[in-house]
Amino acid sequence: MIYAKDLDGKKITASPNGKATCPYCNSELIAKCGHINIHHWAHKVKVNECPFKQESAWHLKWKSLFPKERCEVRIEKNGKVKIADGVLPNGKVVEFQNSPISWDEIKEREAFYDNMCWVFNCREPYKEERFYFLERKKGFWYYQSKVHPEINHNEHQKYFCFKWKHARKSIMACEKPVYLDLGEDILRLIYLEPRKYHSGVGVLRPKEDLHNYILGKRIEKTKFQNYSVVHHR
Ligand SMILES: [Zn+2]
Repeated sequence: MIYAKDLDGKKITASPNGKATCPYCNSELIAKCGHINIHHWAHKVKVNECPFKQESAWHLKWKSLFPKERCEVRIEKNGKVKIADGVLPNGKVVEFQNSPISWDEIKEREAFYDNMCWVFNCREPYKEERFYFLERKKGFWYYQSKVHPEINHNEHQKYFCFKWKHARKSIMACEKPVYLDLGEDILRLIYLEPRKYHSGVGVLRPKEDLHNYILGKRIEKTKFQNYSVVHHR
């Protein structure tokens, strides 16, 4: 986690030899202040029932973009407590997902936060070309790796058709907006059919748009809004 709880219950970042407790499970934490990863906190002793038990470098990096008051926000509802990865200036919760997540957990989190969206780590499949875009030529779809062919382009949106071998099937459970982090670009998922054809459609944006959105910088409304989500199951 980026922020731990100090003795006064305040959110503090990791500093060498710092002492603090986990804001979720109250376990003792140790500061991780190396040269590679974002400085963060980790449990001193292995815990089972804490959402912070294991966090990838990817997860920490995205969360670190949020300002303190909107990063790792404790939310209590109906006697339940969750710590949202990040909250956008408009109050929407953003959950970053790297590790596998079950269908039930997706449903449970969406019901809890309600006003939320997902960002899934899709960098590896994209890099390894298990996730690739298709180009349309004379009515047929052709494989075209790492190029972003536009299949339909209007002033506001660009739609892209893709194939994704061994897609994360649990994404099908998501009813809230889903973004796939491909590295340099973010794909807003419009449609996914991983069962038969491993295919889908999305709208591609540079990752800077999501950075700016997190920081509350003004971006054109059409870039991350006004999408109509289509769910085919
Ligand atoms: Zn904990």
